[in-house]
Formats: sequence, structure tokens, C-alpha cells
Amino acid sequence: MNYQVTIGLEIHIELKTKSKMFCSCPNSPFETEPNLNICPICMGHPGTLPVINKKAVEMVIKTGLALNCEILENTYFERKNYFYPDLPKGYQISQQRAPLCRKGFLEIGDKKIGIRNIHLEEDTGKLFHQKNYSLIDFNRAGVPLMELVTEPDITSAKEARRFAEELHLIMHYLNISDADMEKGQMRIEVNISLSREKGKLGTKVEIKNLNSFRAVEKAIKYEIRRQAKILEDKGEILQETRGWDDVKGMTIPQRRKEFAQDYRYFPEPDLPPLHIDSRMLQEIKLQIPELPSQRRKRFKNEYNLSEKEIEVLVKNKELGNYFERVVSELKNWIKFKKIPKAHTPAIIKTAANYLETDLLGLIKAQTKPHTLTSVRSLKITPENFAELISILWEGEISSRIGKEVLCEMFKTGADPSHIIEERNLKQISDEKEIEEMAKRVIKENKKAVEDYKKGKENAIQFLIGQIMREAKGRANPEKARRAIKKYLLEVDQ
Ligand code: ADP
Ligand code: ZN
Ligand code: MG
Repeated sequence: MNYQVTIGLEIHIELKTKSKMFCSCPNSPFETEPNLNICPICMGHPGTLPVINKKAVEMVIKTGLALNCEILENTYFERKNYFYPDLPKGYQISQQRAPLCRKGFLEIGDKKIGIRNIHLEEDTGKLFHQKNYSLIDFNRAGVPLMELVTEPDITSAKEARRFAEELHLIMHYLNISDADMEKGQMRIEVNISLSREKGKLGTKVEIKNLNSFRAVEKAIKYEIRRQAKILEDKGEILQETRGWDDVKGMTIPQRRKEFAQDYRYFPEPDLPPLHIDSRMLQEIKLQIPELPSQRRKRFKNEYNLSEKEIEVLVKNKELGNYFERVVSELKNWIKFKKIPKAHTPAIIKTAANYLETDLLGLIKAQTKPHTLTSVRSLKITPENFAELISILWEGEISSRIGKEVLCEMFKTGADPSHIIEERNLKQISDEKEIEEMAKRVIKENKKAVEDYKKGKENAIQFLIGQIMREAKGRANPEKARRAIKKYLLEVDQ
């Protein structure tokens, strides 16, 4: 049976401000003692007054602009009333009727996924359930929290995952949140329904407790199968909230939703309404950097790279920036050395390859888990990296030696030409010298020569390998091949 799958996402993201949403407590829910970053305001003591964190408002507007939203000119905060032990005030300051941003979209592939709205609120504290009691840590209470709600435009698990990953990336580009899902800085709730008729929506199920992008995708796939089976058996889908059990790989009922809870929203009487004027909007617009989708397009136009290569440089913003600095150095060198322009794309591609496989490999091996910021603490300057690429391009060293030099540069930050000189790594290109080696190698490896005579072509490779061993990897491989072939012919006669 074919069902139409409908998915909408509700995503909470903690904003990376210095202080909390309505008080001056540090916004630092991690790496501190419990209940250290709290004050009478975020604890909701009577008589205290909240003050709006302007930076948080700007961050939400920035996100809204990056996601093609309308920004409301006049907006305000509301109280969302409910009781739960992690909510010290007995209400959460949030927005319902007048969210800061609405009617936007994010393009995934060629498809526009609608953004219904984005609003600003405050996070709750954290409960730690023990055997017979629970502990509460309020460090997180009052941390600025942005909530984004999509239209039900998503139609597959893969698409939902891609949306979430792209949003995560945009948060990095805008420097609004680290959006680490494992740390709960980005929390995704999935709403999903199946229906047989096109255009008609089925009963939706909400999935919570998703701690990774992988979990988002897996939970949706599981839920599609579960709901399809129920419909297949002529059963009824219950409107409910389910939790994802990552170990069991299944969703589990959490609570039934028969009627909407009444939060008795009303305007927050202790905060003034917000007026977003055009000057403020203009200023925020100017702060929006190049976004991932723009970088993808630009890199495609400017550099001769594959989509996969571009994606590495887009996903890791710092690496992409580094790459561009290297390219600009290389362009200077190309101009200076009067290298024909036609070689530029190949030179840039070489640089990208060394960055993405070799350099990234070294970074990943060193810092575990690998973080996006690790490029920033790199000891190799873009100038030195470009110099290494130019040395390789000019054939002064082999690619094998190139990797060795890069490794040393990575450790010490030294100049590639210094390393090459100090360790005597320059490629041996002198024909006489290589031919002498070839003669010697052929004399000392009778067996390989016999094999070659019997028609085993790969004996040549072995003999080249012997030259390389003698030359400690420094022999020019092309010249070594030519010399071996030349003297094999001589022995042949
Ligand atoms: P609720 O009032 O239950 O929170 P909303 O209308 O606010 O529901 O929608 C919450 C999220 O669920 C939105 O992302 C929306 O796109 C999505 N959604 C709404 N109806 C459906 C449906 N039938 N199937 C899947 N997703 C849906
Ligand atoms: Zn506080
Ligand atoms: Mg809702």
C-alpha cells in the first residue's frame, strides 16, 4: 500500500548569548555546579522584574531573515501557564500570538520547506530522577530558547534529516548556537501522519527524545512502518506523543493527547511590548554572513570542485574559509611565476584534495571528537599550506614526501621549504643519478628481471619500488620508470 507521509518539525534551539533571557545570570548550563547560575529573577521570586535580552531578540530576527521570514514589527511576550517542577515561576515567558518571525522557508534541494513561525522563549531547568526522588538543576532555567515550527511540508525521513542538518549548519554560520543535539542545545520533535488520500492529512503522532540526526531519520522510518501496519490492518492511529528508544530502535507511547492543554496564555505584564523598527532590521541584515546555500553556489562557480568536495568545505565553515585563503595565496604565486592560467583549476583542486583528505585526516586523528573549530587552532598558516602545494606542483617533492612534510608542518607549524631542506627531502630528478640506481637495482634483483621476461608487467612496479627504497622515496617516479624500462630492454637483448 502507498501512503502519503506528512511531517512537520518543531525545533528548539538554545541561543549562545552571554547572559540569560531575562536576567544577568551567565548563560552557562554546562560545566558548572548545579544551581550556581541562578538569581531571584530566573527563580521567579515575588517582586522581581525581568528585562529583555536584546541580543537574543536580534539572534531570532537574524535567523528569521536567513530563513526568508517576515519579521513582525510589533510583538510582545506572553505567559504560558503550567505547573512542572523544572519551571520555577509556574509559567514560561514565551510567545504565541505574535511570534517574532513567520511565513518563511528553507530550501532543501529544489524544494521549499515552509517555516510557519519562529519565536523566543526561555528554557526550563533540568530534572535528574533518582530512585525515590528527583533533583533539580536550575542553571538552564531562563536560558534563551528559540522555537521554530515548520509547515507539514516534509515527506520523508531523509528530507526531515536534511532539513535539521541544514538548520544546524545555518546556526553555525550565524554563530547563534552550537546546536549540539547530544547536549540538548538543539531539540527536535517530529510530527508525523500517514494518509491514503492525497491532500488529506491523517492523525498525527509526535515523537520526542531524539538526540541525533540519525535518530530523527530512524524514528521516522520506524513510525512510517508502524502506522502503515495499523492502517493496513484497518486499525486507528491514536493521536499521541511517543518517545524514541535508541537502543531498542523503536518509538514507545508516552502520553495520549485527547484534548489540547490550556496554557491560559496572556501578555506578560512585566515586560514592555517590542517594536522592531526598520533601522534595527537593516542593522541585523548587514550582520548576516554568506549562508551555506550561497557558499555552495559560489564555490561551484569559482572552483572546479565536485559537489562532494564542495560539501566538505561548506559543512566545515572554518575549513572553507581556510581553503579560500590558501587559494588566494596560490593565485598570487601563479601570477608571480607566470604559470599558464589554464593550470589554475587543477592547482586549486590539488589544494582541496590535500585539505580534505590529508589535513582533515590529521585534524581528526588529533582531536577526538573532531570539532568544527579545530581548524582555527591549526599551526599551519594558509601561506605555508599554499607553499607546500606549489612545491608539489613544481615537482620538487613527490606526493609521498608531500604527506610527510605536511605531517611535520601540522606538528610544528614549520615552513615546508625549511623542512625539505633540513631533512634533505628534495626529489631526485637528475637522470644520471636515477639511471645509476636503476642499473644497480636490476643487477641486484635477478628474480624480478626473470619475472619480467616471463611477461609479468608488475615486476616493473617492484623494481621502481626498489629505487624508491634506495632513494628514500625521493626519486622522481616518472624518471625512475623510464630508467627501469630502458635498462630492462638492455638486459633483454
Ligand atoms: P499542535 O497544535 O498539536 O501543536 P500544530 O498545528 O501546532 O499542532 O502543528 C505542530 C507541528 O505539526 C507543525 O510542525 C505542523 O507542521 C505539524 N503538523 C500539523 N498537522 C500535521 C499532520 N496531520 N501530520 C504531520 N504533521 C503535522
Ligand atoms: Zn538569573
Ligand atoms: Mg503547536
